[in-house]
Amino acid sequence: MTPIDGFSAEELFTKKNGFTYNDFIILPGFIDFAPDEVSLESDLTRNITLKSPLVSSPMDTVTEHKMAIGLALLGGIGIVHYNNTIDEQVAQIRKVKRFENGFITEPIVLSPENTIADIDAIKEKYGFSGIPITVDGKLNSKLVGIVTNRDTDFETDRMKKLSEVMTRELLTAGKGLSLSEANQILKQSKKGKLPIVDGKGCLIAFMCRNDLVKNREYPLASKDSRKQLMVGAAISTKEESIDRLDALVEAGVNVVVIDSAQGNSVYQIEMIRYIKKKYPEIEVMGGNVVTQEQCENLIKAGADSLRIGMGPGSICTTQMTMSVGRAQATAIYKTAKYAKEQSVPVIADGGISTIGHISKALSIGASAVMMGSMFAGTQEAPGEYFYENGIRLKKYRGMASVEAMEAGGSKRYFAEEAKIKVAQGVSGAVVDKGSLFDYVPYLIQGLKHSFQDMGTKDITALHGKLYSGDLRFELRSPSAQLEGGVHDMYSYKEPKYM
Ligand code: GDP
Ligand code: 5GP
Repeated sequence: MTPIDGFSAEELFTKKNGFTYNDFIILPGFIDFAPDEVSLESDLTRNITLKSPLVSSPMDTVTEHKMAIGLALLGGIGIVHYNNTIDEQVAQIRKVKRFENGFITEPIVLSPENTIADIDAIKEKYGFSGIPITVDGKLNSKLVGIVTNRDTDFETDRMKKLSEVMTRELLTAGKGLSLSEANQILKQSKKGKLPIVDGKGCLIAFMCRNDLVKNREYPLASKDSRKQLMVGAAISTKEESIDRLDALVEAGVNVVVIDSAQGNSVYQIEMIRYIKKKYPEIEVMGGNVVTQEQCENLIKAGADSLRIGMGPGSICTTQMTMSVGRAQATAIYKTAKYAKEQSVPVIADGGISTIGHISKALSIGASAVMMGSMFAGTQEAPGEYFYENGIRLKKYRGMASVEAMEAGGSKRYFAEEAKIKVAQGVSGAVVDKGSLFDYVPYLIQGLKHSFQDMGTKDITALHGKLYSGDLRFELRSPSAQLEGGVHDMYSYKEPKYM
């Protein structure tokens, strides 16, 4: 008989303590496959499956269109925050839905009245200098020329107007071209840039030859039935959300996340019922919840997915301030087990700071993970980089930090009308992580290695072993946790990503 070592998750999580990711470890399984054979495909909601189980948090320092586009191309999904007006949030969603790989759909445009110095400023800020020129310097206006560095590099008078230097004979391509057709035109023309125009000659997009060379296909991309990238949007349970919802649906949103720190409320139940009645085709993620009783209410109301976590977030002070919440691993195991019986996936939200935490969340029943701090330092997160003590940083703040609430973010905490706002989060900075396009493949590869060590090829099999008791775990003593980290070194260099 095969000896059985370690403990099942059920044995682990029926203790009186609440556990979090660092409190336990997964025992190794048997390897008979390579990491590349691992599939991370998983359910985000009842009806949406992702190739990469990664979701970005609806926070104003994490998810706007660039994050949502990047993550969707890489197989995950971004949830656009709502600390903005309805029009602003809708504009973000539209940008994601309109995105076409290889086409720059919002190129920087100048007018003939601008000067070469303006091009220099763009070059300095963004790193490129090929600029299409329209009559009024706006997109969707008549294209009249193009300026590239060949028009400007030997020009000593940088105040010269672009009308004097721009190239007026243009090769353009019409609207509706596929990426490969446009690429073909670029290749044959030997030109560096290709403006895309509509029937009236107005500029609607732009292409760069350099992108042709580095143009990658995105086999994991999360796309809907219309082949557009998928995107989510957060809303609150407040009245205003009714109009917001209509506008978001009109813009093509795929999943609506009802953003509430404590989701078990009459407001949320009513909101889920309302959405599922009016827009049955829209997937609704309810939350946040951490107990089975909370899950029951939201699932009965019609939630297609549940967001799990109350207090584990890196910027969050809820557990200290409110004394209500739950340790994240226990919360995930308990809720996932219950929701699985109703075929509702759960998303582990908050508290993830390593690849190992993602594996652990999945191993105890989560179908995907939602992360804020992990993504906040990437180029695709909103905001500019800044330096502190020589380190390149980006701002990251909790949506219930005083700063974010002042900017309108208190809807999540039922605190909008409150005269005295009690903060449940902090505002700070995270380290530069570079581009999502380098970072997410690293996370995915790391996860595949972790799955190999667990001896499991995919998330369905992992959950199968979890509930059959074949996946074995062990609690870690405080010294076991120390042993599992780097120790006894005089000095060492941390890897770029953990
Ligand atoms: P340039 O010749 O100086 O314009 O630069 P390259 O063609 O070598 O590179 C421009 C890079 O910036 C390409 O990868 C573009 O996709 C990217 N890019 C992003 N937004 C824009 C934009 O608004 N205009 C231009 N010209 N490039 C952009
Ligand atoms: P992180 O990935 O940074 O550990 O956590 C991100 C998650 O924290 C978000 O998805 C959201 O659920 C939660 N969150 C965001 N802002 C706040 C806040 O100000 N207070 C609390 N309690 N949680 C927050």
